[in-house]
Amino acid sequence: MTSRVAFVTGGTGGIGTAIVKRLADMGHKVATNYRNEEKARSWQEQMKADGYDIAIVKGDVTSPGEAEAMVREVESTLGPIEILVNNAGITRDGTFHRMKAEQWTDVINTNLNSVFNVTRPVIEGMRDRKWGRVIQISSINGLKGQYGQANYAAAKAGMHGFTISLARENARNGVTVNTISPGYIATDMVMAVPEEVRAKIVADIPTGRLGTPEEIAYGVGFLADEQAGWITGSNLDINGGHHMGW
Ligand code: NDP
Repeated sequence: MTSRVAFVTGGTGGIGTAIVKRLADMGHKVATNYRNEEKARSWQEQMKADGYDIAIVKGDVTSPGEAEAMVREVESTLGPIEILVNNAGITRDGTFHRMKAEQWTDVINTNLNSVFNVTRPVIEGMRDRKWGRVIQISSINGLKGQYGQANYAAAKAGMHGFTISLARENARNGVTVNTISPGYIATDMVMAVPEEVRAKIVADIPTGRLGTPEEIAYGVGFLADEQAGWITGSNLDINGGHHMGW
């Protein structure tokens, strides 16, 4: 197994932590970003206690300058980034007729503009080295829409357009670009939803349960694998059968 350098945005979150661990378990050198020093240090300590040595770099993915600085820092400490997972994301839910401009721009900046900010400083090196994996963490709701999430669904759907264009542009340079669309996962983001709403969501999922962060991380590991070189421009649904699209 070739050991690669991986950068996962939002690695301190529920799904991100599982992705970071999965890639480290595959033998890769892994880095993630943080915004809050205290939170990040205790996360890093916990990871150490669990047997993982994960590099952390400070930066906000909504800032092109900070995103580029993070990428350069990872490159100088671990080496060129070969696997990039655009995972950082937020929700600012509300029905559109009541939505404030700030709810819209915060979500588009964090979930979609971030993908430009972080991928742009990484892609040229991947092209030059003729190997790369770029993986977007989108959402089931970017495919089917969701009440109260016009901002989030727009940003997550935008990731698919990005993926399929970047996949075409970079296929001959050994760089694959794919999206994973998770269904509802038992992380803080979903556990913050009122219990009765959650119960309705679970009732709609054919497998009868929420997913786990590890089940998303498994998909990331699959797409990042050396043998996944002919999978590009695809969307991998991991949602317990909640949305079955063609
Ligand atoms: P969490 O809220 O647990 O984690 C989000 C992570 O993103 C945190 O590490 C957070 O850092 C980071 N982050 C947020 N904003 C920024 C920013 N501006 N700059 C840098 N880092 C930032 O979310 P999940 O783990 O649940 O979700 C991960 C991804 O999966 C998201 O893109 C989400 O939309 C997607 N997803 C989640 C689903 C779910 O059911 N949970 C379902 C479908 C998709 P900080 O601690 O600093 O806030």
